[in-house]
Parts: sequence; C-alpha cells; structure tokens
Amino acid sequence: AGSVVFDNVTKTYGHGAVTAIDNVSFTIHPGELVTLLGPSGCGKTTTLRMIAGLEHATSGRILIGDKDVTQLPATDRDVSMVFQSYALFPHMTVAENVAYGLSVTGVAKAEAKEKAEEGLNLVGLAGYGSRLPSELSGGQQQRVAVARALVLEPEVLLLDEPLSNLDAKLRRHVRTEIRDLQQKLGLTVVYVTHDQEEALAVSDRIIVMNRAVIAQQGTPRELYEQPQSEFIADFIGDANLVDGEIVSVDGDLATIDIGGINCNLRHRGQSKGPARIAVRPDAVRLSILSGAAGGDVIETSLKGHITHATYLGSQMQYSVTTPVGELFVIDHRIDTPIAAGEQVAIGFSERGMAVVSTK
Ligand code: ADP
Ligand code: MG
Repeated sequence: AGSVVFDNVTKTYGHGAVTAIDNVSFTIHPGELVTLLGPSGCGKTTTLRMIAGLEHATSGRILIGDKDVTQLPATDRDVSMVFQSYALFPHMTVAENVAYGLSVTGVAKAEAKEKAEEGLNLVGLAGYGSRLPSELSGGQQQRVAVARALVLEPEVLLLDEPLSNLDAKLRRHVRTEIRDLQQKLGLTVVYVTHDQEEALAVSDRIIVMNRAVIAQQGTPRELYEQPQSEFIADFIGDANLVDGEIVSVDGDLATIDIGGINCNLRHRGQSKGPARIAVRPDAVRLSILSGAAGGDVIETSLKGHITHATYLGSQMQYSVTTPVGELFVIDHRIDTPIAAGEQVAIGFSERGMAVVSTK
C-alpha cells in the first residue's frame, strides 16, 4: 500500500474563475483509511480526481508512494477509483465486470477470470459471478464495483461517495464491510463522503474540508471532542454554541464561566475574555427543580425552562430556554422523563464541551 501526499496543491477551473482546491497540504500514510468529509462543492471529488490523475493540479505537488506524480497521466498511476455512480456494464456478467479492468491492462483471460473470482470472494459475493448486475441488489452491485477496483491491486483505492445510492440500513452494513476489507488487506483508502456519521464510523483519520480548504483534520475522536471552530463543532455531531467567558488560563486548561457555572476545558492559547463554547447535547444535565414530580432541591446558578420534551425510544430530547440561550439536550435516562413546562437546574459535563472561538 502506498502513501499520498498533497504539497500546497491548488486547482482552479475556468482559467481561474473557480478555485476548487486552495493551497491544500496533507499526508495519508500507507494502510490508512482517510476520509475527505465536507459539504457539497467543497472540493472532495476534485481532490480524488487529482490523486487519480483525472485532473491535474494548477500548482503544487502530488506524491504517491514517494513518487512525484504531479505530471503523470492517470494510466501511469497505481490507483483505482470507485465513482459515485458505480455503473456496472449491464450486458456483462458480474465476473466479466470485475475482470474488465484487468483485461484492459493486458492480463491474460484465464488469470483475469481467476482474479475476478478472488475479488468477488473478498467482497462476499463468491458464486455470484455468472449473474447479471440486474440480478443483484443495490448493495451487492456496490460491492461488485469495489471488487472491480480491488482486483487491480492498486497502491491506493479511491472511493467517491460509494454508498450514496444505498438506503440507510444497507449503507451501515456495506460501510462496515468496506472497513473490514480495508483492514484485512492493509489497503490505503481515500474515502469521500458528505455524511459525518459515515466518516466517524469508517475512518482512521478525517480531513474536513470547507470551501476549498482544510477546516480541520484528526481522528474521529479528536474532531468530535476537540473541534477547533464553530463549523467543525456543528458539522461533526450536534452542538449547542453558547457564550461564555474565559476567566483564567493555566497552560492548555482554561476555566470558563457559562451562566455562573465554572468548567475547566482544554483550549488552544486563547487569552481571557468572551468565548464561544460548543456543548454537546448529551453534555447538558437537567434536574427538576419544582413541579408535580416533586423535584430535588438543588442550589444552582443556572436554571432553565423546558419548552419541548420528545420521547424517541432510546433517548429523550429537550429544548430548554436558559439565560445563555436555547439548549438542545439529549438525555438517555428515558425512565425519568421531564415534562414540558418544568423548571430545571442545568449542569454541564466537561467531556462534551470545547472552546471553539474567542471574540
Ligand atoms: P465536492 O465533491 O466536494 O462536492 P467538487 O470537487 O465536485 O466538490 O467541486 C468543487 C468546486 O469546483 C465546486 O465549486 C464545483 O462547482 C467546481 N467544479 C468541479 N468540477 C468542475 C469543472 N469540471 N469545471 C468547473 N468547475 C468545476
Ligand atoms: Mg463530489
């Protein structure tokens, strides 16, 4: 498996009218599954197509496995790409579809056939080779497309929104299979999606893109627990963005005041003063202050009023009006729901909070 390096890569279209990628640098290590995640139009497909050699960088350098491929045509690069529309040839059998790429590169028929059988075996479709694509489900067709790319044994496998044509349940199933396969074979995979849950589920690392640049990169956990901007806090999972104040700083820990409650949070060099804090919905703790349920007697500096309470089977969701703003809250204690209209004391769990900006 090979590495992929982008070194200050810029890509413009239409003689500079559109900047699809703006001076982007990253490194993908051999055997890693790295996801490019971001809203539509942020430059994900352009980045993949540049790795594949289907587009050329306007400036900067691209390396695959230590080899500078910036000027190399697609046919001379050891990568294969599964496109968003993975269209199989409808008149060819599944095995012929998988063998097709091998035949094109001059592999002998018998060997291509054998490799296609191996490829189908890898994606769990042994025995399906003689069927037509139309005789397979959407998820199976998707796996055939992956097998077709795999049999080429590329240094790098590129997957552009490979699950976008599948329904939600199948998406979860196939993404797990792709991840298992990638780990079993030690493949370097660059995976593109706009779905943050999918990215969290499959990736070793995620590169989040926004408007042609990298907004933040890191492991799924780093991105979720230490978002460095409001964009990331909001894009990876849900977040309440509330105003607080950094009252003191000690190394990389800051004491934050939110509505009179003090929390010790990690921060990145911001000095004292007003700050925006991202608070995950399950980092807000609610306790009943009054009402028919006979709530606890709690001393608190931050109180709120439940405006909506929604039962969702595995969790309660609340909207709470507070002096620091409207909070969206998820509570997994479904046996003790709080009714709309109740007054509540509010507490915070520091694990689900991060300083995202200062003013
Ligand atoms: P994503 O895959 O993240 O949705 P793309 O890489 O497809 O984004 O596109 C990034 C930007 O480049 C968008 O503004 C898009 O309109 C533009 N773009 C992509 N391909 C072309 C092209 N062939 N010609 C002109 N503009 C393009
Ligand atoms: Mg795209």
